[in-house]
Amino acid sequence: MDVYTIQLAKHRLCVPLEIPIIDITAKSGIPQFAPTMPDVVALKQGKMEWDAYVDIYIKKLRNTWMYHRHQWDMVLSMPCVAVACYCSYGKNCHRYVWVDVLKKVASARGIAVNYIGDITEETKR
Ligand SMILES: [Zn+2]
Repeated sequence: MDVYTIQLAKHRLCVPLEIPIIDITAKSGIPQFAPTMPDVVALKQGKMEWDAYVDIYIKKLRNTWMYHRHQWDMVLSMPCVAVACYCSYGKNCHRYVWVDVLKKVASARGIAVNYIGDITEETKR
């Protein structure tokens, strides 16, 4: 499967590319794929380090694999997907962590993940 990441503000770029978006933001995303709002706030306020935030988020995604596997199965059934968050490109963002975890769960199912990168105005299919 082909996997992209995208800043939610650029979601319109996915329309001509015919790439479905999965929102993993704490605000409006699929809850089992999103970080919690208190953790997002703590990170933004500098009360939590990025590494600790990632640890908590990976634990949450593992929990999703254990108890809400249909969410991963829904993603793994898609030939192409873009995972979206608000963060600007070039910054620490949990969408890249999500892609790393997707690669692991996909390999458990024998599915190869081809991560292509952030979608920009130059992205072609
Ligand atoms: Zn983000």
